[in-house]
Amino acid sequence: MIPVTKSYLPNKKKYKTYVDRIYESAWLTNNGSLLRELEQRLAEYLGVKHLICVANGSLALQLAYKALDLKGEVITTPFSFAATTSTLAWEGLTPVFADIDPNTFNLDPNNIEPLITKDASAIVPVHVFGNPCQVEVIQAIADKHNLKVIYDAAHAFGTDYTDQNGHTQSVLNYGDISTISFHATKLFHTIEGGAVITNDDDIARKVRLLINFGITGPTTIESVGTNAKMNEFEAAMGLCVLDEIETIKSERQRIWQTYQQQLSGLVQFQQWNPKSQNNHAYAPVLFESEAQLLQVEAKLKENNILARRYFYPSLDTLDYLKNNQACLNSRDIASRILCLPIYPSLLVEQQQKVIDILKGGL
Ligand SMILES: *Cc1c(COP(=O)(O)O)cnc(C)c1O
Repeated sequence: MIPVTKSYLPNKKKYKTYVDRIYESAWLTNNGSLLRELEQRLAEYLGVKHLICVANGSLALQLAYKALDLKGEVITTPFSFAATTSTLAWEGLTPVFADIDPNTFNLDPNNIEPLITKDASAIVPVHVFGNPCQVEVIQAIADKHNLKVIYDAAHAFGTDYTDQNGHTQSVLNYGDISTISFHATKLFHTIEGGAVITNDDDIARKVRLLINFGITGPTTIESVGTNAKMNEFEAAMGLCVLDEIETIKSERQRIWQTYQQQLSGLVQFQQWNPKSQNNHAYAPVLFESEAQLLQVEAKLKENNILARRYFYPSLDTLDYLKNNQACLNSRDIASRILCLPIYPSLLVEQQQKVIDILKGGL
Protein backbone atom coordinates (compact mmCIF):
# COMPACT_ATOMS: atom_id res chain seq x y z
CA MET A 1 0.00 0.00 0.00
CA ILE A 2 1.21 3.52 -0.83
CA PRO A 3 -0.37 6.06 1.52
CA VAL A 4 -0.57 9.82 0.92
CA THR A 5 1.97 10.29 3.69
CA LYS A 6 3.95 8.17 6.11
CA SER A 7 5.14 9.38 9.50
CA TYR A 8 8.88 9.95 9.52
CA LEU A 9 10.69 7.73 11.99
CA PRO A 10 14.16 9.01 12.92
CA ASN A 11 17.15 6.97 14.06
CA LYS A 12 15.86 4.50 16.68
CA LYS A 13 19.12 4.30 18.66
CA LYS A 14 19.17 8.03 19.13
CA TYR A 15 15.54 8.06 20.26
CA LYS A 16 16.36 5.31 22.77
CA THR A 17 19.20 7.43 24.19
CA TYR A 18 16.68 10.18 24.89
CA VAL A 19 14.25 7.66 26.41
CA ASP A 20 17.05 6.48 28.72
CA ARG A 21 17.53 10.08 29.83
CA ILE A 22 13.82 10.39 30.56
CA TYR A 23 13.90 7.16 32.62
CA GLU A 24 16.91 8.39 34.61
CA SER A 25 15.35 11.72 35.45
CA ALA A 26 11.78 10.35 35.82
CA TRP A 27 10.67 13.76 34.50
CA LEU A 28 7.99 12.97 31.94
CA THR A 29 6.27 16.28 31.29
CA ASN A 30 5.78 19.86 32.62
CA ASN A 31 8.44 21.97 30.96
CA GLY A 32 11.11 19.26 31.04
CA SER A 33 14.68 19.67 29.85
CA LEU A 34 14.08 18.00 26.46
CA LEU A 35 11.12 20.27 25.82
CA ARG A 36 13.19 23.36 26.64
CA GLU A 37 15.99 22.13 24.39
CA LEU A 38 13.52 21.54 21.56
CA GLU A 39 11.92 24.98 21.93
CA GLN A 40 15.30 26.65 21.82
CA ARG A 41 16.52 24.67 18.81
CA LEU A 42 13.28 25.19 16.88
CA ALA A 43 13.24 28.94 17.54
CA GLU A 44 16.81 29.12 16.29
CA TYR A 45 16.25 26.87 13.27
CA LEU A 46 13.12 28.72 12.18
CA GLY A 47 14.40 32.19 13.09
CA VAL A 48 11.54 33.22 15.39
CA LYS A 49 11.54 34.96 18.78
CA HIS A 50 9.10 33.03 20.97
CA LEU A 51 8.12 29.46 20.14
CA ILE A 52 5.98 27.70 22.73
CA CYS A 53 5.46 23.99 22.18
CA VAL A 54 1.97 22.70 22.91
CA ALA A 55 0.05 19.42 22.78
CA ASN A 56 -1.23 19.82 19.22
CA GLY A 57 -1.90 22.30 16.45
CA SER A 58 -5.59 22.66 17.26
CA LEU A 59 -4.87 23.72 20.83
CA ALA A 60 -2.25 26.12 19.46
CA LEU A 61 -5.05 27.86 17.54
CA GLN A 62 -7.41 27.90 20.54
CA LEU A 63 -4.67 29.33 22.77
CA ALA A 64 -3.99 32.03 20.18
CA TYR A 65 -7.67 33.07 20.11
CA LYS A 66 -7.74 33.14 23.92
CA ALA A 67 -4.44 34.98 24.31
CA LEU A 68 -5.67 37.73 21.97
CA ASP A 69 -9.09 37.78 23.60
CA LEU A 70 -10.98 37.40 20.32
CA LYS A 71 -14.72 38.06 20.30
CA GLY A 72 -17.56 37.80 17.81
CA GLU A 73 -16.73 37.28 14.16
CA VAL A 74 -13.49 36.05 12.65
CA ILE A 75 -12.79 36.22 8.93
CA THR A 76 -11.20 33.01 7.73
CA THR A 77 -10.81 30.68 4.77
CA PRO A 78 -13.13 27.80 3.87
CA PHE A 79 -10.31 25.96 2.09
CA SER A 80 -8.48 24.30 4.97
CA PHE A 81 -8.41 21.34 7.29
CA ALA A 82 -11.47 21.10 9.57
CA ALA A 83 -9.48 22.37 12.59
CA THR A 84 -9.25 25.96 11.34
CA THR A 85 -13.03 26.41 11.48
CA SER A 86 -13.70 23.93 14.25
CA THR A 87 -11.40 25.64 16.76
CA LEU A 88 -13.16 28.97 16.13
CA ALA A 89 -16.59 27.44 16.70
CA TRP A 90 -15.28 25.57 19.78
CA GLU A 91 -14.16 28.89 21.28
CA GLY A 92 -17.59 30.44 20.68
CA LEU A 93 -16.42 32.57 17.75
CA THR A 94 -18.27 32.93 14.46
CA PRO A 95 -16.28 32.00 11.36
CA VAL A 96 -17.03 34.29 8.42
CA PHE A 97 -15.70 32.80 5.20
CA ALA A 98 -13.92 34.88 2.60
CA ASP A 99 -13.35 33.10 -0.69
CA ILE A 100 -9.93 31.97 -1.92
CA ASP A 101 -7.75 32.75 -4.90
CA PRO A 102 -8.22 29.76 -7.26
CA ASN A 103 -4.53 29.74 -8.21
CA THR A 104 -2.78 30.07 -4.84
CA PHE A 105 -5.60 28.35 -2.87
CA ASN A 106 -5.10 31.02 -0.16
CA LEU A 107 -7.63 33.49 1.17
CA ASP A 108 -7.92 36.31 -1.39
CA PRO A 109 -7.29 39.61 0.47
CA ASN A 110 -9.73 41.40 -1.87
CA ASN A 111 -12.56 39.39 -0.32
CA ILE A 112 -11.77 40.33 3.28
CA GLU A 113 -12.75 43.98 3.56
CA PRO A 114 -16.38 43.67 2.36
CA LEU A 115 -16.99 41.13 5.16
CA ILE A 116 -15.70 43.25 8.05
CA THR A 117 -18.49 44.32 10.39
CA LYS A 118 -18.36 45.99 13.82
CA ASP A 119 -18.45 42.48 15.34
CA ALA A 120 -15.21 41.35 13.67
CA SER A 121 -12.16 40.92 15.91
CA ALA A 122 -9.65 39.03 13.78
CA ILE A 123 -8.54 37.47 10.51
CA VAL A 124 -7.41 33.83 10.54
CA PRO A 125 -5.82 32.98 7.17
CA VAL A 126 -4.07 29.70 6.38
CA HIS A 127 -0.79 29.34 4.47
CA VAL A 128 -2.34 26.54 2.45
CA PHE A 129 0.08 23.61 1.85
CA GLY A 130 2.78 25.97 3.21
CA ASN A 131 2.25 28.62 0.51
CA PRO A 132 2.58 32.09 2.13
CA CYS A 133 -0.50 34.33 2.06
CA GLN A 134 -0.17 37.94 0.93
CA VAL A 135 0.98 38.80 4.43
CA GLU A 136 1.74 42.48 3.84
CA VAL A 137 -1.64 43.20 2.25
CA ILE A 138 -3.47 41.31 5.00
CA GLN A 139 -1.59 43.21 7.71
CA ALA A 140 -2.53 46.54 6.11
CA ILE A 141 -6.22 45.57 6.14
CA ALA A 142 -5.96 44.43 9.77
CA ASP A 143 -4.25 47.68 10.82
CA LYS A 144 -6.88 49.79 9.08
CA HIS A 145 -9.73 48.01 10.86
CA ASN A 146 -7.98 47.29 14.16
CA LEU A 147 -8.16 43.51 13.76
CA LYS A 148 -5.79 40.83 15.05
CA VAL A 149 -4.16 38.42 12.61
CA ILE A 150 -3.52 34.80 13.49
CA TYR A 151 -1.97 32.61 10.82
CA ASP A 152 -2.86 28.95 10.84
CA ALA A 153 0.65 28.03 9.67
CA ALA A 154 0.15 24.31 10.30
CA HIS A 155 1.86 23.49 6.98
CA ALA A 156 4.47 26.26 6.92
CA PHE A 157 7.42 24.61 8.65
CA GLY A 158 10.57 26.13 7.19
CA THR A 159 8.74 28.40 4.72
CA ASP A 160 10.49 31.69 4.08
CA TYR A 161 9.13 35.00 2.85
CA THR A 162 10.93 37.99 1.32
CA ASP A 163 9.27 41.35 2.09
CA GLN A 164 9.06 44.57 0.03
CA ASN A 165 12.49 45.62 1.33
CA GLY A 166 14.14 42.40 0.24
CA HIS A 167 14.42 41.06 3.77
CA THR A 168 13.95 37.27 3.97
CA GLN A 169 12.72 35.55 7.10
CA SER A 170 10.38 32.79 8.27
CA VAL A 171 6.76 33.42 7.29
CA LEU A 172 5.98 32.40 10.88
CA ASN A 173 7.07 35.90 11.95
CA TYR A 174 3.93 37.45 10.45
CA GLY A 175 0.68 38.25 12.21
CA ASP A 176 0.17 38.74 15.94
CA ILE A 177 0.55 34.99 16.29
CA SER A 178 1.34 32.09 13.98
CA THR A 179 0.44 28.56 14.98
CA ILE A 180 1.93 25.35 13.64
CA SER A 181 1.15 21.65 13.89
CA PHE A 182 3.74 18.98 14.67
CA HIS A 183 1.32 16.09 14.08
CA ALA A 184 2.86 12.78 12.94
CA THR A 185 1.77 13.43 9.35
CA LYS A 186 3.34 16.86 9.05
CA LEU A 187 6.73 17.73 7.50
CA PHE A 188 8.31 18.09 10.96
CA HIS A 189 6.64 16.22 13.79
CA THR A 190 6.68 15.38 17.49
CA ILE A 191 4.10 12.50 17.21
CA GLU A 192 1.37 14.86 18.45
CA GLY A 193 2.24 18.49 19.00
CA GLY A 194 2.29 22.03 17.77
CA ALA A 195 3.52 25.48 18.68
CA VAL A 196 2.43 29.05 19.22
CA ILE A 197 4.84 31.56 17.68
CA THR A 198 4.96 35.29 18.40
CA ASN A 199 7.34 38.25 18.55
CA ASP A 200 5.42 39.79 21.44
CA ASP A 201 6.79 39.15 24.97
CA ASP A 202 3.43 39.72 26.68
CA ILE A 203 1.57 37.34 24.38
CA ALA A 204 4.26 34.71 24.89
CA ARG A 205 3.99 35.02 28.66
CA LYS A 206 0.22 34.76 28.48
CA VAL A 207 0.36 31.62 26.34
CA ARG A 208 2.78 29.99 28.79
CA LEU A 209 0.27 30.70 31.56
CA LEU A 210 -2.65 29.35 29.53
CA ILE A 211 -0.99 26.02 28.71
CA ASN A 212 -0.48 25.17 32.37
CA PHE A 213 -3.82 25.94 34.07
CA GLY A 214 -2.89 29.59 34.68
CA ILE A 215 -0.57 28.46 37.47
CA THR A 216 2.39 30.75 38.23
CA GLY A 217 3.76 29.19 41.41
CA PRO A 218 3.19 26.47 44.01
CA THR A 219 0.40 28.48 45.60
CA THR A 220 -0.60 30.94 42.89
CA ILE A 221 -3.13 30.64 40.10
CA GLU A 222 -3.09 33.84 38.09
CA SER A 223 -5.70 33.18 35.43
CA VAL A 224 -7.93 30.67 33.72
CA GLY A 225 -5.95 28.06 31.80
CA THR A 226 -6.00 24.63 30.30
CA ASN A 227 -3.64 21.71 29.86
CA ALA A 228 -1.85 22.03 26.53
CA LYS A 229 1.62 20.85 27.49
CA MET A 230 3.96 18.83 25.31
CA ASN A 231 5.58 15.87 27.07
CA GLU A 232 9.21 14.69 27.10
CA PHE A 233 8.70 11.69 24.79
CA GLU A 234 7.22 14.00 22.18
CA ALA A 235 10.04 16.51 22.65
CA ALA A 236 12.59 13.69 22.24
CA MET A 237 10.95 12.69 18.94
CA GLY A 238 11.13 16.32 17.83
CA LEU A 239 14.84 16.57 18.66
CA CYS A 240 15.56 13.41 16.65
CA VAL A 241 13.47 14.50 13.65
CA LEU A 242 15.06 17.96 13.70
CA ASP A 243 18.52 16.36 13.41
CA GLU A 244 17.40 14.79 10.13
CA ILE A 245 15.42 17.71 8.74
CA GLU A 246 17.79 18.46 5.84
CA THR A 247 17.43 14.89 4.53
CA ILE A 248 13.65 15.08 4.94
CA LYS A 249 13.54 18.34 2.99
CA SER A 250 15.75 17.21 0.12
CA GLU A 251 13.87 13.90 -0.29
CA ARG A 252 10.56 15.73 -0.40
CA GLN A 253 11.92 18.21 -2.90
CA ARG A 254 13.10 15.40 -5.16
CA ILE A 255 9.70 13.69 -5.08
CA TRP A 256 7.81 16.95 -5.60
CA GLN A 257 9.98 17.89 -8.59
CA THR A 258 9.46 14.49 -10.19
CA TYR A 259 5.69 15.00 -10.01
CA GLN A 260 6.05 18.42 -11.53
CA GLN A 261 8.30 17.25 -14.36
CA GLN A 262 6.14 14.29 -15.28
CA LEU A 263 2.68 15.75 -14.77
CA SER A 264 2.99 19.34 -15.94
CA GLY A 265 0.57 20.08 -18.74
CA LEU A 266 -1.64 17.18 -17.62
CA VAL A 267 -2.78 18.57 -14.27
CA GLN A 268 -2.57 22.01 -12.67
CA PHE A 269 -0.18 22.86 -9.82
CA GLN A 270 -0.58 25.34 -6.97
CA GLN A 271 0.76 28.81 -7.82
CA TRP A 272 3.41 29.44 -5.18
CA ASN A 273 4.02 32.91 -3.77
CA PRO A 274 6.93 34.34 -5.86
CA LYS A 275 8.39 35.85 -2.66
CA SER A 276 8.91 32.40 -1.18
CA GLN A 277 10.34 28.93 -1.85
CA ASN A 278 8.14 25.84 -1.77
CA ASN A 279 8.70 23.71 1.37
CA HIS A 280 7.25 20.61 -0.38
CA ALA A 281 5.03 19.73 2.56
CA TYR A 282 2.34 18.45 0.17
CA ALA A 283 1.96 17.46 -3.47
CA PRO A 284 -1.47 18.76 -4.48
CA VAL A 285 -2.64 18.54 -8.09
CA LEU A 286 -5.78 19.97 -9.63
CA PHE A 287 -7.85 18.10 -12.22
CA GLU A 288 -10.08 19.48 -14.97
CA SER A 289 -13.24 18.26 -13.30
CA GLU A 290 -14.45 16.34 -10.27
CA ALA A 291 -15.38 13.47 -12.60
CA GLN A 292 -11.79 13.23 -13.78
CA LEU A 293 -10.54 13.35 -10.19
CA LEU A 294 -12.89 10.54 -9.12
CA GLN A 295 -11.76 8.42 -12.05
CA VAL A 296 -8.09 8.89 -11.16
CA GLU A 297 -8.71 8.39 -7.45
CA ALA A 298 -10.51 5.09 -8.17
CA LYS A 299 -7.70 3.86 -10.46
CA LEU A 300 -5.12 4.66 -7.78
CA LYS A 301 -7.20 2.92 -5.14
CA GLU A 302 -7.50 -0.24 -7.28
CA ASN A 303 -3.70 -0.30 -7.14
CA ASN A 304 -3.54 0.28 -3.40
CA ILE A 305 -2.43 3.90 -3.73
CA LEU A 306 -4.26 6.19 -1.37
CA ALA A 307 -4.18 9.78 -2.56
CA ARG A 308 -6.32 12.08 -0.41
CA ARG A 309 -8.86 14.76 -1.19
CA TYR A 310 -7.29 17.65 0.75
CA PHE A 311 -9.21 19.76 1.36
CA TYR A 312 -12.66 18.40 0.82
CA PRO A 313 -15.35 19.39 1.57
CA SER A 314 -15.03 23.16 1.45
CA LEU A 315 -15.74 24.29 5.02
CA ASP A 316 -18.41 26.79 3.97
CA THR A 317 -20.64 23.76 3.27
CA LEU A 318 -20.54 22.39 6.83
CA ASP A 319 -23.99 21.76 8.31
CA TYR A 320 -23.03 22.66 11.86
CA LEU A 321 -22.45 26.27 10.82
CA LYS A 322 -25.32 28.56 9.97
CA ASN A 323 -25.82 31.39 7.47
CA ASN A 324 -22.69 30.89 5.47
CA GLN A 325 -22.06 32.71 2.27
CA ALA A 326 -21.18 30.28 -0.50
CA CYS A 327 -17.51 30.50 -1.47
CA LEU A 328 -17.56 29.30 -5.06
CA ASN A 329 -13.82 29.27 -5.74
CA SER A 330 -13.21 27.20 -2.63
CA ARG A 331 -15.98 24.74 -3.51
CA ASP A 332 -14.65 24.40 -7.04
CA ILE A 333 -11.04 23.81 -5.98
CA ALA A 334 -12.10 21.44 -3.20
CA SER A 335 -14.01 19.32 -5.74
CA ARG A 336 -11.00 18.95 -8.09
CA ILE A 337 -7.93 18.67 -5.86
CA LEU A 338 -5.99 15.59 -4.87
CA CYS A 339 -2.86 15.33 -2.72
CA LEU A 340 -0.42 12.74 -4.05
CA PRO A 341 1.87 10.54 -1.92
CA ILE A 342 4.94 12.44 -0.71
CA TYR A 343 7.19 11.25 2.11
CA PRO A 344 10.93 10.56 2.39
CA SER A 345 10.71 6.75 2.27
CA LEU A 346 8.64 6.75 -0.96
CA LEU A 347 10.76 4.76 -3.41
CA VAL A 348 11.52 5.99 -6.93
CA GLU A 349 9.71 2.99 -8.47
CA GLN A 350 6.71 3.49 -6.18
CA GLN A 351 6.40 7.09 -7.24
CA GLN A 352 6.72 6.07 -10.88
CA LYS A 353 3.82 3.66 -10.36
CA VAL A 354 1.72 6.48 -8.89
CA ILE A 355 2.51 8.70 -11.87
CA ASP A 356 1.86 6.01 -14.50
CA ILE A 357 -1.47 4.99 -12.98
CA LEU A 358 -2.52 8.62 -12.60
CA LYS A 359 -1.73 9.27 -16.25
CA GLY A 360 -3.69 6.18 -17.26
CA GLY A 361 -6.72 7.47 -15.37
CA LEU A 362 -6.87 10.84 -17.14
C1 LIG B 1 -3.01 19.58 10.89
C2 LIG B 1 -3.73 20.90 10.84
C3 LIG B 1 -4.24 21.53 11.99
C4 LIG B 1 -4.35 20.84 13.31
O1 LIG B 1 -3.22 20.36 13.86
P1 LIG B 1 -3.27 19.12 14.86
O2 LIG B 1 -1.87 19.06 15.38
O3 LIG B 1 -3.64 17.91 14.06
O4 LIG B 1 -4.28 19.43 15.92
C5 LIG B 1 -4.76 22.80 11.87
N1 LIG B 1 -4.81 23.43 10.69
C6 LIG B 1 -4.37 22.85 9.56
C7 LIG B 1 -4.45 23.63 8.28
C8 LIG B 1 -3.83 21.56 9.59
O5 LIG B 1 -3.44 20.97 8.46
